[in-house]
Amino acid sequence: MTVTELVSYEDALATYDPVMGLEVHVELGTKTKMFCGCSTALGAEPNTQTCPTCLGLPGSLPVVNATGVESAIKIGLALHCEIAEWCRFARKNYFYPDMPKNFQTSQYDEPIAFNGYLDVDVDGEVFRVEIERAHMEEDTGKSTHVGGATGRIHGAQHSLLDYNRAGIPLIEIVTKPIVGAGEKAPEVAKAYVTELRELIKSLGVSEARMEMGQMRCDVNLSLRPQGADKFGTRSETKNVNSLRSVERAVRFEIQRHAAVLDDGGTIVQETRHFHEEDGSTTSGRVKEEAEDYRYFPEPDLVPVAPARAWVEELRGGLPELPRVRRNRLREEWGLSRHEMQSVLNAGAIDLITATMDEGAPADQARKWWMGELARRANEDGVELAALPITPAQVARVCVLVKEGSLNDKLARQTIEGVLAGEGGPDEVVAQRGLKVVSDEGALGTAVDEAIAANAAIADKIRGGKVAAAGALVGAVMKATRGQADAARVRELILEKLGVEG
Ligand code: ADP
Ligand code: MG
Ligand code: ZN
Repeated sequence: MTVTELVSYEDALATYDPVMGLEVHVELGTKTKMFCGCSTALGAEPNTQTCPTCLGLPGSLPVVNATGVESAIKIGLALHCEIAEWCRFARKNYFYPDMPKNFQTSQYDEPIAFNGYLDVDVDGEVFRVEIERAHMEEDTGKSTHVGGATGRIHGAQHSLLDYNRAGIPLIEIVTKPIVGAGEKAPEVAKAYVTELRELIKSLGVSEARMEMGQMRCDVNLSLRPQGADKFGTRSETKNVNSLRSVERAVRFEIQRHAAVLDDGGTIVQETRHFHEEDGSTTSGRVKEEAEDYRYFPEPDLVPVAPARAWVEELRGGLPELPRVRRNRLREEWGLSRHEMQSVLNAGAIDLITATMDEGAPADQARKWWMGELARRANEDGVELAALPITPAQVARVCVLVKEGSLNDKLARQTIEGVLAGEGGPDEVVAQRGLKVVSDEGALGTAVDEAIAANAAIADKIRGGKVAAAGALVGAVMKATRGQADAARVRELILEKLGVEG
């Protein structure tokens, strides 16, 4: 189906109610794989991080990675899940060349964590996404299909296999069917994955970088007629690997399902591929049922029975969760929800707090990261965090401003210098000669000259029109080529004219 045959989003929503299900896989940042001691480090030569266990050789036996289990429990707790007192791994049997054991070690009906929720903010409102389960499993290897136009297996001449990834711990987090999002379904999906990513990062269990495949999302979607109770048949769009793509995939599937249903057609339960180029999806394979995988409990691994005391210890050690922290900071910084949303979207929260930790006042830290620096990042098309300036350097600029050695304009030039690779703030200030004229004698002379040159304005100020002082401040700043402390200049002017500030 081509894009032109889609029903418009508005028309689709007028007739149908979308139901979503999001399955997110997170690669844990453990040092070793889930069931063997192989390294998980990225970027190694293909097939150099393998052993008999992750290659499924005869006689090898798996052992559970305790840090993997701990991370799974932390994720479960942070998602307000119940943690299983006893659970097992299960074999999910199927053949694929990138999976040398011919089964994936996963969890089936006994997940480590279940029945939780994650609250997300959408347009200033809270939307609760219910979590069905979070379970432990392992990643597959990686196939590279060579010789075709698309990089897919179709049309390829041969395929290369790298088993370095085979056996890296994964946590799969599955939502209950998400109902009630209505027209906001695409935004809710995106907000959920965003919040989940923040949560995972805050727990320190994974960097959750979607562009690196450390976090991957499958989007299930179905439509039911408005007012109906029964869910429609879902499609499952696999590997939607950016936040923006999650939003687009939901939107596209809503429009596509509506087109099929309006036409009197039926939706087949299938997996679909998402295409970044135009945001469309195309048919993958007809969905297999759970029974096709012949799941059975893994006989080579002992059950996982986390002691309650350990679970409680982990609960006690959870960090402040991102949404709670965001709301706290929002109040402390005196921002509106909308302003805080911009700070979040800009990826500036941690940068601002790090700048504050280095001694900058909150408003100053926020001003630079959300102003000058955000503008630069935008211009250069990079993330704020990727700019060649550290929170400590921004903090140093803030301190110099606070001390009065830099004014706003000079501070901006200092930051420019740091970004240009001229060194840290102090070096830039020294090399560029950016110092506020704080020599009171020199300032006094400049003020006297400005008063003399603007007698009429000076009279107005003497007469009580204090607001007119701005013009004289401007004249002094001009005369000192911006290197005076404007606040001090204003004080001096008022002092000399004998009026109260
Ligand atoms: P599978 O292994 O087939 O992918 P899962 O249970 O792992 O099944 O995931 C299915 C996801 O789709 C879950 O998030 C679930 O809540 C959701 N889901 C189930 N039925 C529907 C439906 N009719 N429409 C939309 N989402 C659904
Ligand atoms: Mg699935
Ligand atoms: Zn191994």
